[in-house]
Amino acid sequence: MNVMTAVRAASDTTTVEHFDVLIVGAGISGIGSAYQLTKQLPDRSFVILESQDSFGGTWLTHRYPGIRSDSDLHTFGYSFKPWVGPPIATADEIKSYMGDVIAENDLAGHIRYRHRIERASWSSETNLWTVEAVRTDSQEPVTFTANFLWMCQGYYRHSEGYTPDWKDVDKFKGRIVHPQLWPGDIELKDKTVLVIGSGATAATLIPSIADTCAHVTMLQRSPTYFRIGRNAIELAETLRQLQVKEEWVHEIVRRKILFEQDAFTKRCLAEPEQVKKELIGQISAILGPDYDVATHFTPTYRPWRQRIAFVPDADLFEGIKSGKASVVTDEIDRFTEKGVLLKSGRELAADIIVTATGFNLCMLGDIALDIDGKPLDFADTVTYRGMMFTGVPNMAWVFGYFRASWTLRTDLVADFVCRLLTHMTTKGVNKVVPQLRAEDHNMPLLSWIDPDNFNPGYMMRNMHLLPKRGDKPEWQHSQDYWTEKDEFPRIDLDDAAFVYG
Ligand SMILES: Cc1cc2nc3c(=O)[nH]c(=O)nc-3n(C[C@H](O)[C@H](O)[C@H](O)COP(=O)(O)OP(=O)(O)OC[C@H]3O[C@@H](n4cnc5c(N)ncnc54)[C@H](O)[C@@H]3O)c2cc1C
Repeated sequence: MNVMTAVRAASDTTTVEHFDVLIVGAGISGIGSAYQLTKQLPDRSFVILESQDSFGGTWLTHRYPGIRSDSDLHTFGYSFKPWVGPPIATADEIKSYMGDVIAENDLAGHIRYRHRIERASWSSETNLWTVEAVRTDSQEPVTFTANFLWMCQGYYRHSEGYTPDWKDVDKFKGRIVHPQLWPGDIELKDKTVLVIGSGATAATLIPSIADTCAHVTMLQRSPTYFRIGRNAIELAETLRQLQVKEEWVHEIVRRKILFEQDAFTKRCLAEPEQVKKELIGQISAILGPDYDVATHFTPTYRPWRQRIAFVPDADLFEGIKSGKASVVTDEIDRFTEKGVLLKSGRELAADIIVTATGFNLCMLGDIALDIDGKPLDFADTVTYRGMMFTGVPNMAWVFGYFRASWTLRTDLVADFVCRLLTHMTTKGVNKVVPQLRAEDHNMPLLSWIDPDNFNPGYMMRNMHLLPKRGDKPEWQHSQDYWTEKDEFPRIDLDDAAFVYG
């Protein structure tokens, strides 16, 4: 099983390589999954196909000034590799950390860069996926077969960001850039910059360019919650002073952060008004009593219905306080030659407009999937715990958490997949397909995520494309790390939800 076989297709000269497991994407999920596979099932052959020319995923794609994590690296980093820097990390620091994981675990030889997967077809005759990719450098088609597809392609389209359809955009005489495709040649010095959006991207970008440009304005339709804190963890500092080993520091700090995040999430549900008051109070304390926090920093939704960006050392608010950055809360009516005209009638002039307006959700890396020749419509499936899908054999998707670090789920899914693959070997079977059990047939089928619980724009715009959710724990992505960490290891692999063949 550990020997990679290369066979020549009978009908043509295309070389088809076979692997036990094919991992899609060399982002933080793909590399973490590969690590777990090598440790837990070292006899399995595997390959990682990545369309870009290096690893990193999100941290490679996004190159705008100031790009950094918005969750701490003790939990966004891997459980097995201590994070030794400040909790909020830059993209370069994250890539360097991932590079160390690749080097220390000999993963480089397993990664094929510049391989964009376009199609994956399951055959019930061979119990194999046939994966067709294109080499982005030579446009050469390449084909692989694999027993299991491990989808680590993230959740948004890397090649483009989301830009709303504004009126008269073409009239604007300045430059428009999307942070996801940040141009290397842009000159911000002494320019007036308008950033449209108020999510984590805007909150990161604005303080990092505020000193360079003449002025930067954040234009938001509605306010967002932020958390402010020092970019340091006192407990980590104390443990290091005591010369505690980094492995221990990582584990202890991880547990502390997870404990506190759990408590915070529960408080957001139990006493949303109090949490709201505290979050807004942190901002008022910096901006002073005369600043209009009611208009600019008081969201209408309850805390945690959308991701809350952490603002290290309050840099965004310090920028506003200094007058280098400002906030306008209004709606765009249309673009003008000089900038944007707002619904209030005010015109905001700018040399450069940055559209920090989010992502385009992307289903399974834009890969056309079919099962025995029948195209797979992902929206017709029901998810098994947000990682497998009814009617889709031998496939798992790493879709992380919104309220906790994404990577926490990478580890949980990896443990599950490795256990499942071992179980299949023990049973002597080649195929596993989730299916609704007899008791599930009258179960209501709901949207992937409950919009009342979590409702960011990119999810709401595309929810109809995502798999369905049931009303039982087996058939939903709970978004609850604290429950899943106990439940996943106990999943009964002989439950009727799994059909083997
Ligand atoms: C700016 C930004 C900041 C974020 N900060 C945080 C944070 O602090 N904490 C947090 O928990 N989450 C954060 N997120 C969410 C973040 O995307 C995830 O946490 C995480 O990086 C996703 O990792 P991933 O490996 O699953 O997917 P990605 O990082 O999206 O990587 C997927 C990889 O798959 C490749 N791929 C996709 N389709 C194909 C295909 N068809 N063929 C070949 N290769 C393919 C892509 O090129 C990419 O390299 C952030 C997101 C963004 C955009």
